[in-house]
Amino acid sequence: MRRYEVIVIGAGLAGLACAWELVRRRHRVLVLEREPVIGGRASSWEENGMLVESGFQRQSRVVSHPEDFHSLAPGYDHLRPGQQTDVPGLTLAGDYTRQPYFATMEGAVLSGQRAAAVVARRFAGG
Ligand SMILES: Cc1cc2nc3c(=O)[nH]c(=O)nc-3n(C[C@H](O)[C@H](O)[C@H](O)COP(=O)(O)OP(=O)(O)OC[C@H]3O[C@@H](n4cnc5c(N)ncnc54)[C@H](O)[C@@H]3O)c2cc1C
Repeated sequence: MRRYEVIVIGAGLAGLACAWELVRRRHRVLVLEREPVIGGRASSWEENGMLVESGFQRQSRVVSHPEDFHSLAPGYDHLRPGQQTDVPGLTLAGDYTRQPYFATMEGAVLSGQRAAAVVARRFAGG
């Protein structure tokens, strides 16, 4: 049986960036994705000869409790969690986590890279 050092849950841009950075550092990484395609909100697939974008087709839902979500209004940035958590072994990545951008592909990738740095530091004993 193969043994993994890191499990990345979710193959969106943040998870993939995190996994890529860790593989580059020679860690054994398993990526788990619940959907049949990778890429999360940035994924697309072909259906009946048409390119379908997941952001519009799969991820859009009615928000019934808007107060439960971070607002993009100025002054709310401190509510976003960082990549490092107090839970042993748990590191967060995702466009919602704290980094200089809001909900963007760039922010998602950056959060994944930062999460990978946190994990790598932990392996190095830091
Ligand atoms: C319609 C639309 C248009 C956009 N346009 C732009 C744009 O023009 N420019 C831009 O920069 N950004 C754009 N964005 C935002 C950008 O797509 C997202 O910020 C970015 O893709 C988020 O990446 P992420 O990895 O943080 O999250 P996600 O893409 O949401 O990835 C999370 C992944 O985790 C998986 N997952 C969740 N729970 C589990 C579980 N329990 N087990 C296994 N897997 C799980 C999900 O299936 C998903 O694949 C757009 C978004 C949408 C919806």
